[in-house]
Amino acid sequence: MGLLDVSPVRERARCGLCAPGAGRAVAAAVRRPFVGVVLALGSLLGCHTLPSGDPHRPDVVLISIDSLRADHLSGYGYKRDTTPTLDALADKGLRFTHAISGSPWTLPSHMTMMTGLWPTQHQVIEDDRQLSASVPVVAERLQAAGYATAGFASAIYVSGGYGFARGFDTYQDFGLDEHASLGHQVRTPELVTSALGWAKGLPAGKPAFLFLHTYDAHYPYVPPEPWNTRYNRVMDAKELRYHRWEYFKQHPLSKARMRGLIAQYDECIRFVDDSLEPLIDTWSWDRDVVFIVIADHGEEFGERGSWGHAHTLYSEALDVPLIVSGTGVPEAVRSERVGNIDVAATVAAVAGVPWGIGDGVDVRGPVPDRDFWPETSRFDSNKLGLISGPSNSGSAAILDLAANTSERFDLKGDPRERKPMPLRNEAAAIARHLGEPWTLPAGVLTSTAALFSSGAQVERLVGPAAFGMWPPDGTMTVDGAETGASAPVLSGAPPTVPHLLTADVKAELEALGYSEGADEPPAP
Ligand SMILES: [Zn+2]
Repeated sequence: MGLLDVSPVRERARCGLCAPGAGRAVAAAVRRPFVGVVLALGSLLGCHTLPSGDPHRPDVVLISIDSLRADHLSGYGYKRDTTPTLDALADKGLRFTHAISGSPWTLPSHMTMMTGLWPTQHQVIEDDRQLSASVPVVAERLQAAGYATAGFASAIYVSGGYGFARGFDTYQDFGLDEHASLGHQVRTPELVTSALGWAKGLPAGKPAFLFLHTYDAHYPYVPPEPWNTRYNRVMDAKELRYHRWEYFKQHPLSKARMRGLIAQYDECIRFVDDSLEPLIDTWSWDRDVVFIVIADHGEEFGERGSWGHAHTLYSEALDVPLIVSGTGVPEAVRSERVGNIDVAATVAAVAGVPWGIGDGVDVRGPVPDRDFWPETSRFDSNKLGLISGPSNSGSAAILDLAANTSERFDLKGDPRERKPMPLRNEAAAIARHLGEPWTLPAGVLTSTAALFSSGAQVERLVGPAAFGMWPPDGTMTVDGAETGASAPVLSGAPPTVPHLLTADVKAELEALGYSEGADEPPAP
């Protein structure tokens, strides 16, 4: 049990003086010396009283915490008290111990959440692409069913320009789209304030779907005061500096600096956790709601010589938390393999809305063993994975399409993927997933983007007969999306969004380590 009672059912007595957020924040402050800022925020937000919801349809609150690897939550066994709020939420619901992401970076991973499709299917795998209008998103379904819908996002890769605004009555990306800028930081308290402000104005009796994306745990790990002293790390400007991943690869950190960097990351996680407390408290007090908390990917701290995320498909980059808690959700710790592929199906099921698209399932119910298909094309990494079998005894295969290499790990004896072995029959399974008879010809593939969307590349790989499935005009289709068939087949090149990639944006991306370049580190 966590420090706080965040029971999503309204079983507590109301405070006669104030709404619940402030009261809980006071209790929290007594127990947590570093919660001062949240105390002030909670007191302010505690004055919110949300209108009544739909007595028959619970709200859905989907929270994505960027870059939060599963093993850094205290409720997932971490040594630091990073996540008391999320732990308390999990204690009242479902905590999944084997959740993974479909991609180790922000844009394709969030697109998987919203579409229930693998990156190989929705194809938004580079930052010059946006989601095809023909691909359904779950927010549209809830909106059509009468849900009030709102999204609050704090990074350009979750901004409206990529298609994330579809289905939302309100989609606030704080100008990230319009200004195409990463310099405008949006902190979690601002997101929470905006979300609660929106909820306060809802018509009584109308159910709500809220999507909230927070970026504060993303590198360069700069927590505000007083969180920046929470974990007793060295307070030295040099220590605080985050370098882009190429620099770290060439200049490995000392143990002391590694500890400092990880402490910075943990402080950011605690800041996010504390900042979410007023939202979870206020919402669960006033309305029937199911919270779904997940991350878009994990984070690398030098494992295998890699830093940050987006470069690899190993467990440190893909393992994420998944917490589902609220009205009608039982308390349990579950070990089946689940992931962001299941978010859309679960959101739809909570709302009572038909979905039936893709491989995702409502994780509140039985979860079968399935194949998982992580992918990354970022930084020309061009890797495709196949993770299959039970979570405690399956296997993980990773194909490096750029290097034309492959490896396989036995997850039963090697859960952290340290002992690579040759592939078995994964190449054939990958071919089936891509929908065509396909073999990996040495020296042909240069990028998964080319593989998944370029007619010329596909024709070269699988032959002209198979190419007939890819329309030459580049339009996209969804087969079986409405019928509940297995994975829909998407084809053709998605439209690009060049306006999001101005020279200024590219410079900012590079400064944040999102682009390859010189190894001179940027200022954080
Ligand atoms: Zn991310």
